[in-house]
Amino acid sequence: MGTMKAVRKLKREKGANLVDIEIPKIKSDEVLIKVLSTSICGTDVHIYKWDTWSENRIKNIPQTLGHEVCGEVVEVGSSVKKIKVGDYISAETHIPCKKCINCLTGNEHICMNGQILGVDRDGVFAEYAVIPESVAWVNDRAIPPEMASVQEPLGNATYAVLGEDYNIYGKRVAIFGDGPTALFAVGVAKLAGASKVFHIGVFDFNMEIGKKMGADYSLKATDNMDRVQFIRDNTDGYGADIVVEMAGAKQAVLEGLDSLRKGGRFSAFGITPEQKLEIDYNNQIVFKGIQIHGISGRRMFDTWLRLKNMLASKKLDISPVITNLFALEDFEKGFEEMMKIPRVSAKIVLFPDKKLLNERLKEFKK
Ligand code: ZN
Repeated sequence: MGTMKAVRKLKREKGANLVDIEIPKIKSDEVLIKVLSTSICGTDVHIYKWDTWSENRIKNIPQTLGHEVCGEVVEVGSSVKKIKVGDYISAETHIPCKKCINCLTGNEHICMNGQILGVDRDGVFAEYAVIPESVAWVNDRAIPPEMASVQEPLGNATYAVLGEDYNIYGKRVAIFGDGPTALFAVGVAKLAGASKVFHIGVFDFNMEIGKKMGADYSLKATDNMDRVQFIRDNTDGYGADIVVEMAGAKQAVLEGLDSLRKGGRFSAFGITPEQKLEIDYNNQIVFKGIQIHGISGRRMFDTWLRLKNMLASKKLDISPVITNLFALEDFEKGFEEMMKIPRVSAKIVLFPDKKLLNERLKEFKK
């Protein structure tokens, strides 16, 4: 079927290479897409840098990187039922087994045997990619490619903010973290009806985006101030009704627990570098009567349906969070940009087709 360009990890060490490989063959329950756009996630940066997590987690090398994607279906397997050639799709990255107890009880996103695209199998930083039909999600054509490919992390943000009960209207929400997913979360919280959004982060560039996404209070985690007291002072002394932790820093977890009101909900999404974190179990959890909700993935496909509708209707504007569009072949520029400290970028989207990239850049710069 010919060859394609793909960004692959060839060796168990730092970096990745743009190489020519055979266009992959699909199995009967899979579809082949021509990738329109693909975005860089923090996970890809871990794999690119080849840290301890990647060394322990990544089994198959060589492997194509990337998992956030949108593309057009060019071929479908013989047992594929709903997806058709020509469909404009994105991919849920948690590939469920459809057999375990979680899959059978409506919790496919935390499948006991799940695989992750670009982690456990070849990813999408390529001209073509194989997507199992079970995770193919048909997009609305009104959603441009640079937004369609970031629906996966936007789904994390949506799920983390809304929780299981979608009960957020009129509540006061504190969001810790300033990566792209946290910035998405600010926008989702605001749109979902939060009466106040506190945004706590580190880098000026990202905090400014947080303001554009609707943060009412922008608090620097590095400033010498009592953020917990500030949040209490601005919530009638109670604390935030909902805390969304997306920094994965010990300080953010502890301040998040302390700034949550009694009976509140704590959405845990950030990954801490320490495997174990010491918390005051009695006072921060038990006596406060809080709920802790671990966020792994998104509701399949309730979260996807809601954010598709919000993006297609243009009710939710995520454009401030998308800061750079590059050609796929310039992926190294994207990774370098992502790794700069202090941060100078949020979401970076790559395009295999330069013609499409140029078209999108014209819109992007408006
Ligand atoms: Zn399963």
